[in-house]
Amino acid sequence: MRLRNKPWADDFLREEDQIVVQAPFAQKGSWKHLFSHPEQPLHLEIGSGKGQFIAGMGVQHPEVNFIGIEFVKSVIVGAVKKVKDAETENVRMVNENAKDLTDLFEINEVDHIYLNFSDPWPKSKHEKRRLTFHTFLSQYEAVLKEEGRVTLKTDNKGLFEYSLVSFSEYGMILEDVSVDLHADEDPLNVPTEYEEKFSAKGQPIYRCTARFTT
Ligand code: SAH
Repeated sequence: MRLRNKPWADDFLREEDQIVVQAPFAQKGSWKHLFSHPEQPLHLEIGSGKGQFIAGMGVQHPEVNFIGIEFVKSVIVGAVKKVKDAETENVRMVNENAKDLTDLFEINEVDHIYLNFSDPWPKSKHEKRRLTFHTFLSQYEAVLKEEGRVTLKTDNKGLFEYSLVSFSEYGMILEDVSVDLHADEDPLNVPTEYEEKFSAKGQPIYRCTARFTT
């Protein structure tokens, strides 16, 4: 989908410097100091879209610090607005490409990574672009702490099956696999924009959490 360019987005992202991290690569190794409670765990969402998940998680978990990465400017502005409206102090947004994750985060800096409704890239020639391809997993392994987790939520059966295999082949341990998250009624689930859209169409939502072995 081609999104309309929003020329005011640059100005907006610069002005909202309480929420939008202006020089994210300079934060490598010191992300926690951006937050009023640096001792709290650091959770990262890759591909935050319009931000309903990260804003909702920020409110639900004041004991956690959150960073949302989204590389499309015209989309991240929506997330920044939601975080602002939520009046939560524990969420920061980053307008960068997550392919450079190990340039953004130090080894062992992150406690949890969320991949929500990531682009499925169904053609096998695009496998490398999937956020659960092994080159991404090795970056997640590097930046995550030993007890760190990766959680994937998707409506896309193909991406879900692919990711379960990719996690397993990488030697990760699977936890909490659900093939119909909404039927399982997790009271703590914070739905994303895509999740609400696909769920309203009657599609099941898949979720799994995996960790690296040490
Ligand atoms: N998580 C949101 C949006 C899902 S769409 C939701 O569930 O509603 C996937 C999002 O990931 C898009 O907004 C896309 O721009 C973003 N994205 C994809 N690859 C990315 C990357 N490498 N770095 C940062 N953002 C990325």
